[in-house]
Amino acid sequence: MKIGVPIEIKNNENRVGMTPSGVFELTKRNHEVFVQKDAGFGSGFLDQDYIKAGATILETIEEVYEIADMIVKVKEPIEKEYSLIKKDQVVFTYFHFASSETLTKAMIESKAVCIAYETVEDADGSLPLLVPMSEVAGRMSIQQGAKYLEKPIKGRGILLGGVPGVPPANVLVLGGGIVGIQAAKMAAGLGANVTIMDINMKQLRYISDIMPANVNTEFSSEYNIRKHLPETDLVIGGVLIKGAKAPKLITKDMLKDMRPGTVIVDVAVDQGGCFETTHATTHQDPTYIIDDVVHYCVANMPGAVPYTSTVALTNVTLPYVIRLANEGWEQACANNASLAKGLNVVKGDIVYKEIAEAFDLEF
Ligand code: NAD
Repeated sequence: MKIGVPIEIKNNENRVGMTPSGVFELTKRNHEVFVQKDAGFGSGFLDQDYIKAGATILETIEEVYEIADMIVKVKEPIEKEYSLIKKDQVVFTYFHFASSETLTKAMIESKAVCIAYETVEDADGSLPLLVPMSEVAGRMSIQQGAKYLEKPIKGRGILLGGVPGVPPANVLVLGGGIVGIQAAKMAAGLGANVTIMDINMKQLRYISDIMPANVNTEFSSEYNIRKHLPETDLVIGGVLIKGAKAPKLITKDMLKDMRPGTVIVDVAVDQGGCFETTHATTHQDPTYIIDDVVHYCVANMPGAVPYTSTVALTNVTLPYVIRLANEGWEQACANNASLAKGLNVVKGDIVYKEIAEAFDLEF
């Protein structure tokens, strides 16, 4: 199969759909990979690396779309790309169709086969192609929290791990899923006192078993959250209720209970945020202050670490790319129920119920 890897043209997107290692795995299986010039540059991969792995470099995005049977990328196509997508071409990427009727209609019109990373789903309901981005965001939340706790950027001026003779900071992690566990692990590793809250007792039992002694678990309730806030230095918001807006666990009035310079990092901002005072920010201007509490609410945290994010993402997408290339999309989806869940729009038809429902379109 001919596989195309275009450069990501969405603003500030530095990730790329395939690493040289992925190219190597495909070319050794006798597939041809066409990578757009400089596509990997933002993630630290040079054209020479791709060539060594067996890829052909093409100058323009038009050439990549023209030659490829399957396009592998990261973000949803933006308007400039709509007309490049061909009938019957497989496009494997994040689409987030439910958030854009324009994109949905454009892909219906293209008659392409659109397989969305975010809806590939395992039998237990987990979303394997979203997990790595939560892992990145969870770990990064502590790095960012530690930075914004510094005095020059209006934080409390406390070192997460303390030093001999000075106690460490207190970190409260709301949500003990992928984000929460990674955040707690990082904070604990730096020596902070960590409390992690969830409403899922099974998850709390698991966390309690695997975490070091400086991580405590506590049931998530308004009472317990209020109890912790006056002593907390850094709060991480990592809750998720699937398919719903995040619950507002910290309301505006609770900010008054926190000490000036406390930092809150709302990773759940992409689902509306779990703090009432959350609004989405960007890497260019990541924080704002309300009632002396520093808010960090960047909606695409993994975008700041494109090397790690690209490798983490392609580690999980590559096995599916290989299946699609070896078997063709129809057979690959027939053979793999997780991948079949990724089918969203196929040759002009919406095949994912929730997307049709979102825009009252035919299913
Ligand atoms: P997850 O499903 O693995 O974990 C969510 C956890 O929240 C679950 O354990 C659930 O039981 C818990 N929860 C639900 N209601 C709760 C409550 N009232 N109190 C405490 N815990 C509660 O989800 P995840 O992968 O960790 O993702 C968390 C959020 O982070 C999602 O909204 C996701 O979209 C977002 N995210 C954001 C970025 C970013 O760049 N900002 C990147 C990746 C993920």
